[in-house]
Amino acid sequence: MIRVCYYKGCGVVYGEKEPLSDKRTTRGLCPIHLKISLKEIKAEMEKYSMANREKQSQSAVLLLEK
Ligand SMILES: [Zn+2]
Repeated sequence: MIRVCYYKGCGVVYGEKEPLSDKRTTRGLCPIHLKISLKEIKAEMEKYSMANREKQSQSAVLLLEK
């Protein structure tokens, strides 16, 4: 099968996958966009944990003010 990158606006053919005789396409991420996606996921996770930390310190402040 032919691997085609599904990343927005990419569509690059970046390899083949078993069975090689099957010429249908399979969607995935080319190495470049795989890296980009992983970075995006990581950034999202960091944002999320930052927001959580902020919430936690806010509730700590509220507890101290009581
Ligand atoms: Zn790509």
